[in-house]
Amino acid sequence: MHNTKGYAALSATTPLVPFSFHRRDPDPEEIEIQIQYCGVCHSDVHQARDEWAGTTFPCVPGHEIVGRVAKAGSRVRKFKEGELAAVGCMVDSCRVCEPCKSGEEQLCDLGPVWTYNGQDRRHGGATYGGYSESIVVDESFALRLPKRLDLAASAPLLCAGITTYSPLRHWKVGNGQKVGIVGLGGLGHMGVKLANAFGARVVLFTTSPGKVKDAIRLGAKEVVISKNESEMKKHANSFDFILDTVAAPHDVNAYLELLKHDATMTLVGIPDKPHAVAPFSLVAKRRQLAGSLIGGIRETQEMLDFCGEHGITSDIELIPIQKINEAYDRVVKSDVKYRFVIDMKSLV
Ligand code: NAP
Ligand code: ZN
Ligand code: ZN
Repeated sequence: MHNTKGYAALSATTPLVPFSFHRRDPDPEEIEIQIQYCGVCHSDVHQARDEWAGTTFPCVPGHEIVGRVAKAGSRVRKFKEGELAAVGCMVDSCRVCEPCKSGEEQLCDLGPVWTYNGQDRRHGGATYGGYSESIVVDESFALRLPKRLDLAASAPLLCAGITTYSPLRHWKVGNGQKVGIVGLGGLGHMGVKLANAFGARVVLFTTSPGKVKDAIRLGAKEVVISKNESEMKKHANSFDFILDTVAAPHDVNAYLELLKHDATMTLVGIPDKPHAVAPFSLVAKRRQLAGSLIGGIRETQEMLDFCGEHGITSDIELIPIQKINEAYDRVVKSDVKYRFVIDMKSLV
């Protein structure tokens, strides 16, 4: 056991502050990762501010974790000390239920053990995330990073990357399809890059006119300002698939109306209030509204390897951890280009 420095929210209404806690020594099948970079996800903000009701304080957020293996337990096979390693949103699951057995640990019937704000099933106690010096994790929940990618810009792949990759693959997005991505934030900008890499014709929906140029640079063929009703209506009944990454309440019917018959819109954004779905938006053209949660470990590795082959990383703004509260405020204002990543060297 050793003392570990980090940053934590001590309550829903106070800023994050320096916080020290204990990390256990790795078990034989676990590794300890010295964290170099950690991405800042809007889910961190939702949970640090208890917007999903269910945060246990103190809460050390962070689930886009990359670094080097500092220690490897005696039974570890996948990693050697000194190698790069990464951790996403989960650190464990029951491993025996049907979803776990089929490699969809994120869908575990008992719920996966989240990287932070979770309960450690094997050792007891709360889990603490990546806004810290180090993390201890079972090697089967740690990921291997492609060597040629910039390390800091790879961190957001562990949540924003897999959360967009998984539904795009599940709903078989590919060549010749017209695909909408709603919201150009951390998830949205990865969605644009990945859907474009899969061969789709990407249309980006944004509330921020200032992001139009960036969306085109990132791979969108067209950008629609979603507040402009007539621009929206031009796209009625034309989309094969839409991925909604928006973090705040908004009208989902306006997007459902843009789907072709039998097409699907998938929610990955998790606002703190329920959506109002107009039945006609769905029944009129047998449309489907679905949801998706990160991705399993096998698929996360597949996504990292795909990004390695195609040179895909996140567009990031690197910050010292002392700027974390400022970064949270900017995330909430949709003023992030397009993911904040914490440089853990700043944690002294
Ligand atoms: P983010 O960087 O803040 O991006 C969200 C984007 O949504 C904003 O940049 C903005 O894009 C748009 N937006 C914000 N407020 C809006 C409003 N009132 N109306 C319309 N659009 C608005 O957040 P993120 O990190 O990408 O996360 C997005 C959401 O996904 C969060 O709710 C997060 O908790 C959730 N999430 C889910 C999963 C999962 O597994 N399902 C995983 C990670 C995150 P424009 O400026 O372009 O409009
Ligand atoms: Zn996340
Ligand atoms: Zn399970």
